[in-house]
Amino acid sequence: MIDSHCHLADEAFAGDLEGVVARAQAAGVRQAICILSADEPEEISRTERLVQLWPAVRFAAGVLPHRAGAYAGRPADAAAAARDAATQARAVAIGEIGLDYHYNFAPRDVQRDVFAAQVALAIDLDKPVVIHTREATEDTVAVLREAGQGRVRGVFHCFSGTLDEARLGLDLGFDISLSGILTFPKAEALRDVARFVPADRLLVETDAPFLAPVPHRGKRNEPAWVMETLARIAAVRAVPADVMGQQIADNLARLMGPGA
Ligand SMILES: [Zn+2]
Ligand SMILES: [Zn+2]
Repeated sequence: MIDSHCHLADEAFAGDLEGVVARAQAAGVRQAICILSADEPEEISRTERLVQLWPAVRFAAGVLPHRAGAYAGRPADAAAAARDAATQARAVAIGEIGLDYHYNFAPRDVQRDVFAAQVALAIDLDKPVVIHTREATEDTVAVLREAGQGRVRGVFHCFSGTLDEARLGLDLGFDISLSGILTFPKAEALRDVARFVPADRLLVETDAPFLAPVPHRGKRNEPAWVMETLARIAAVRAVPADVMGQQIADNLARLMGPGA
């Protein structure tokens, strides 16, 4: 099994990273994609220790939608920051990037410019993108379409939309990644999405330190707990968890390369 999206270089893990990695490995998590906030040098510098502890971990880097406001009028600088961080971390993807109209930490037009510049970067580098989209499906899809259908590939991370929105993402050629939200009692619509997405287009993630699945809800999340979400997806799809886990690992390998 893999964790397709976590923030292991976040300072939330700085105090006990060894234990977090050991628990992930003991739970059977073979590798993880660690998302880096491209313009936070402290986070980038923490990758060194992480790689020592867990050589199989790989990286994605991008300017997050929450931080887009710093690049108003100069989206090329955001793309340059993402390029630098991606090079330094030998990233296998650009992200997370996208649009967040829930929090609106940055003006929407600035978010769109910064997002589009980084999509262009990903095309230039021939790397997949990790998309963060919240209450912004229409504009997210528009930016991806403008970049040219088929030229950009990637994943909608922490998907929490409707079946129709899942269909839109799949039609664009993107994978759908489900998080621990799927285990929450009220997430019946998301469990329908988990049944609907074709097996070879599905990824699973923790988004740790955020969004801990049931029965750990409310705590700091960590990669070991991706197994709770995997178990729930396997149950709703009525397939054995180990078969589902292998399929998901294969899907990640197809999207981001096989890794070590
Ligand atoms: Zn996100
Ligand atoms: Zn994230």
